[in-house]
Amino acid sequence: MADRIISILQCTVCKNKNYYHASNKKKEKKIEIKKFCKKCRKHTLHKMVKS
Ligand SMILES: [Zn+2]
Repeated sequence: MADRIISILQCTVCKNKNYYHASNKKKEKKIEIKKFCKKCRKHTLHKMVKS
């Protein structure tokens, strides 16, 4: 099958999974991005986790 990897951006504060990110690249480093979290109602650090 295709090598598509679905990564999830998880809030590091409340652990809520807020964003889904599709990537074709196998080699992807752990990325931490500041994103808006609905649950926290503010911008928090989101960590990319594999589905
Ligand atoms: Zn949160």
